[in-house]
Amino acid sequence: MLDVLVIGGGNAALCAALVAREAGASVLLLEAAPRDWRGGNSMHTRNIRCSHDAPQDVLTEAYPEEEFWQDLLKVTGGLTDEALARRVIRESATCRSWMRRHGVHFQPSLSGTLHLSRTNAFFMGGGKALVNAYYRSAEALGVVVRYDAAVARLEFDRSRFVAAQLAGGERIAARTCVVASGGFESNREWLREAWGCNERGEWPADNFAIRGTRYNQGVLLKDLIAQGADRIGDPTQAHMVAIDARAPLYDGGIVTRVDCVSLGIMVNQAGVRFYDEGEDFWPKRYAIWGRLVALQAGQIGHSIIDAKAVGRFMPPVFKGVQADSLPELAQQLGLPVAAFMKTVNDYNAACRAGTFDHAVLDDCRTEGLTPPKTHWARTIDTAPFFGYTLKPGVTFTYLGVKVDERAAVHFAGRPSANLFAAGEVMAGNVLGQGYTAGVGMTIGTVFGRIAGASAAAASKASA
Ligand SMILES: Cc1cc2nc3c(=O)[nH]c(=O)nc-3n(C[C@H](O)[C@H](O)[C@H](O)COP(=O)(O)OP(=O)(O)OC[C@H]3O[C@@H](n4cnc5c(N)ncnc54)[C@H](O)[C@@H]3O)c2cc1C
Repeated sequence: MLDVLVIGGGNAALCAALVAREAGASVLLLEAAPRDWRGGNSMHTRNIRCSHDAPQDVLTEAYPEEEFWQDLLKVTGGLTDEALARRVIRESATCRSWMRRHGVHFQPSLSGTLHLSRTNAFFMGGGKALVNAYYRSAEALGVVVRYDAAVARLEFDRSRFVAAQLAGGERIAARTCVVASGGFESNREWLREAWGCNERGEWPADNFAIRGTRYNQGVLLKDLIAQGADRIGDPTQAHMVAIDARAPLYDGGIVTRVDCVSLGIMVNQAGVRFYDEGEDFWPKRYAIWGRLVALQAGQIGHSIIDAKAVGRFMPPVFKGVQADSLPELAQQLGLPVAAFMKTVNDYNAACRAGTFDHAVLDDCRTEGLTPPKTHWARTIDTAPFFGYTLKPGVTFTYLGVKVDERAAVHFAGRPSANLFAAGEVMAGNVLGQGYTAGVGMTIGTVFGRIAGASAAAASKASA
């Protein structure tokens, strides 16, 4: 009988498959996507957050465990399991050497805009290269991979995994199973249900784009919860970025992000500002703007900058609307000109001169304006002017299944003997809400490896 069945084809699944195979188990990996689209959201990633006590290869200075923990505590507002989180943080210090052994290469972070060189190790060639390297290594080790192999449901004897049923009806039995099938962010119906209808009669989720794969439909997450697995997290919580409204429905990836929000103002369809664009550094705030835009009419926002901002942010893939005057810009963006001009004029009048520095929380701020802009507030007065129309882009959802330190899935408070989970499907144990860049890959890598080791050990014991 097969020792370990791994369901999913992204980072967490591959880490689990590699570790289980290295431990001597026979491993079959089922990926719902065809080969060309393998790798889930992991293929869109760029970096992993790692703790370290001294400068290490591509990482500068130090990022001690305690600081990582405090960062996680802050962004989650305490919605985290400390024991699991600390395990993730501790093991993040050592996972890079293991990743290198399986063909992953690293490079120094991009300079300038992201402030991540101390905390995040960037993958050479991005997540696509990482995923390809892991598949190569897995196949070389003898992991059997099947594509176009979506699992429809799992079969249990109480909380004990028995077999998986593929969408086509085929049944695959195994001694143990690792579920690493991501969140439910690609399932538009489920997003619709979770977000519901707003006070304007809109279904906000209908206007969301999915930044990553179309294959994370949450089929197994739903199945596991229906069959009694303990759930964790809130279905309305998701990592959401404001992305270019022209982005494709799926797989737009990072290039559809527009990173100039903190350099200008953001207005809604009524031409009115709705949040402090300069609240904090962009890497700490970019993930709140998807939700903020989702709350606006039509789920649309417009980021407005002038010539002074050009060259200070990563150029987006789509060109913005450009105009030589602000009323012309408003017209081109379909905004009510008078309301938009009042917003800009009020904002310009409220800007207090300071020393502009985008690399620090500077003293350029507004006075007497609601909402305020607390940093990097400079008047919008220098042509040409640019506008980017943005909509919410869902990165991943937070709802998951409860696991313990062995990655065993819990049913009514007790761990399954042979069902383990890794990656986004259980990330809510560590990340109940909020986000800090690179932690998705940290959780997936650490828990993927734990789940692979636990599954191999459990299969050995049951054999
Ligand atoms: C644009 C973008 C950029 C990102 N950048 C970063 C970054 O730089 N750093 C970071 O840490 N995180 C980043 N993230 C988040 C990161 O992608 C996730 O945290 C991480 O990839 C999750 O890994 P995973 O293996 O759990 O899920 P995924 O990589 O999404 O893999 C899930 C897999 O399960 C398969 N699957 C789903 N359902 C089934 C089924 N029923 N049967 C069989 N297979 C199934 C899917 O096809 C897929 O292969 C980014 C996400 C996006 C979308």
